[in-house]
Amino acid sequence: MLSDSIDVLGVMVDQKTRCVHYHTEKDVIAIKHRCCQTYYACIKCHLELANHEPAIWKKEQFNEKAVLCGVCQTELSINEYMASKFQCPYCKHEFNERCSLHYGEYFEVDSRNG
Ligand SMILES: [Zn+2]
Ligand SMILES: [Zn+2]
Ligand SMILES: [Zn+2]
Repeated sequence: MLSDSIDVLGVMVDQKTRCVHYHTEKDVIAIKHRCCQTYYACIKCHLELANHEPAIWKKEQFNEKAVLCGVCQTELSINEYMASKFQCPYCKHEFNERCSLHYGEYFEVDSRNG
């Protein structure tokens, strides 16, 4: 493993960034939170461990690398992640499509367009 791999915080986080809340074979991404510029396995981990309100990413910041594939440890920009069709563009591991139900907790989304 790379010695400079990115630290991901969370509750019972494993090597693929799965946590106590989301731990299927597909729950392999971690998300950097705008409020603290820190990767957490999920928003619930942030809720339990961070002592502040989460801040979501604004649309004009979607070029920021804020999504980490826990399988290949590659950082994706939010735009890349949104366009990924729930599959890592680098290692081709599947992402959990149900994450899209929670986009609004992490990213600014256009509710009119779903
Ligand atoms: Zn935070
Ligand atoms: Zn979690
Ligand atoms: Zn990957």
